[in-house]
Amino acid sequence: MRWLLTFLLGVVVGAAGLFAWLRQMPSDTGTGTAVAQHTGALPAPPPIHNLDGQLPPAPTVLPDLTELDLPLRPAALDQVASPAAAPSLPAGKLLVPVDGMPLAQIHDTYDQPRGTERHHEALDIMAPKGTKVIAAADGKVAKLFTSKPGGLTVYQFDPSEKYAYYYAHLDRYADGLKEGADIKRGELIGYVGVTGNSDPNAPHLHFAVFELTPEKQWWKGTPVNPYPLLAN
Ligand SMILES: [Zn+2]
Repeated sequence: MRWLLTFLLGVVVGAAGLFAWLRQMPSDTGTGTAVAQHTGALPAPPPIHNLDGQLPPAPTVLPDLTELDLPLRPAALDQVASPAAAPSLPAGKLLVPVDGMPLAQIHDTYDQPRGTERHHEALDIMAPKGTKVIAAADGKVAKLFTSKPGGLTVYQFDPSEKYAYYYAHLDRYADGLKEGADIKRGELIGYVGVTGNSDPNAPHLHFAVFELTPEKQWWKGTPVNPYPLLAN
């Protein structure tokens, strides 16, 4: 009997001890596995470290892209777009201002050099002397002017008075054309000639478009290439 009690006590104590041990185990193994995970991860760190070691080059590349490239681009765009306020464009298409002239026969001579410093900044529309010159768009006759280079010229403002159309080397004006008169797209304003600084053997209309300054002075503005704006 005493033997049995001793045995049972032993079992109980043993079980209690085992239980206590098991209770401790989880926490031990818990931290143990945690540590194991850390240490298990530690072998990994070399690769991770290698990745980190590889990443630094990447960050040094990325800042190059984000900090150098991106700020530079807007700045570069600003420099192209904003200084001197690049001209906007008149709304709608401009009529080819020489009567019956197909668009296909007009060449873009806007960027042709004139001397060493200047560019043409206009179109020369070749046509026989006396061909009708018509308004490229609705607007108002701002100035009828005779100049040495342009000869007989018409300056027309568009209705918003934001743009001016310039017709030069005219042989003569349309009958009754007056400064301040409203004219419609396609309306006769004059005839092709060789007045001003123009080759008598190559009659043409010199046609220019420019964006007026806020002062709206007929002789002053920022040139716009009319070529892409033309339609028949
Ligand atoms: Zn010209």
